[in-house]
Amino acid sequence: MLRLRFAPQTLEFKHPFRISSGMRTHTPVVFTELSFHGLTGYGEASMPPYLGESHESVIRFLNKAKALLAGIKEPFDISVILQQVDQLEEKNTSAKASVDIALHDLVGKILGKPWYELWNIDKDKAPFTTYTIGIGGEEMLEQKLEEGKDFRILKLKMGGENDRTMLYALRKLSNKPVAVDVNQGWKDKQHALNMIIMMKDLDVLFVEQPLPKEMKEEQRWLYERSPLPLIADESVQRFGDIEKAKGYFNGINIKLMKCTGMLEAYRMIAEARRVEMKVLIGCMSESSCAVSAAAQLTPLADWADLDGPLLIKQDHFDGVKFISGKITLPDAPGIGAVPKGEFPNEK
Ligand code: MG
Repeated sequence: MLRLRFAPQTLEFKHPFRISSGMRTHTPVVFTELSFHGLTGYGEASMPPYLGESHESVIRFLNKAKALLAGIKEPFDISVILQQVDQLEEKNTSAKASVDIALHDLVGKILGKPWYELWNIDKDKAPFTTYTIGIGGEEMLEQKLEEGKDFRILKLKMGGENDRTMLYALRKLSNKPVAVDVNQGWKDKQHALNMIIMMKDLDVLFVEQPLPKEMKEEQRWLYERSPLPLIADESVQRFGDIEKAKGYFNGINIKLMKCTGMLEAYRMIAEARRVEMKVLIGCMSESSCAVSAAAQLTPLADWADLDGPLLIKQDHFDGVKFISGKITLPDAPGIGAVPKGEFPNEK
């Protein structure tokens, strides 16, 4: 029998930021525990507003998953178990990810090995993570660059009024390579192309989700002309979306909370490679629990954007480290994340 427990929590941001619907100061998460014969795996669901999940929806889903898991004798048939969890209901991807991560952690602990080792992945090939510079005024830039001075690659959020000014201001202060994330913020394809052409000579690595996901024809037009790689984030959620992104994007941003977890993320990397697309491993606002799980896969990726735990005030887990920005995987078994002190409010 597999015993699932879970606890809702709120993570506060170090720096609140503006989104279209107002200021974001915190994010809801749910931590999970899956136990079997005295060993426990940990997981996490993080719910960004745009995926439509909440504490209530995740708890409702996890109560269903709890009943299902209670009827399962042993945890080793990961893909069969996760298929059953996936079929409980549509969507609920972060709730599903919290079960997937806890199950991987549990099985890794039973086998005594971290997942990169079980997958036969060379952990030394893990990339450097990007360090996020949010949308804001130039006055924040110096402070943010100072805070991120140990990181080698920056990520600049765009889609505001002053994209061009911010990039030029950044370039005056730093010559580090920059990944740009527009978060669907540009609404005009010609403007997007002009911006990308301008950025090409400013050491920009790639541009993530330049246009709203609904603007499919404009996206194809942009893809055919863009001098920089275009990476799909909001346009690609799960495995089945990859095929549709071919011919529209050069690569995909895989996040555990979008795709239901480590198993599907692993399969998505293989599929992206099969159709010759680049891979970015990203995260939502998450603790070191979910990010350590995602980090297990990063040696297979071209880039990683896993600075989530650095952007929250209190991290409930110890796990993956960023040493001068390089993703450094712990030797601990499973996902390599260990709760700090008491596990929050067991339920
Ligand atoms: Mg993004």
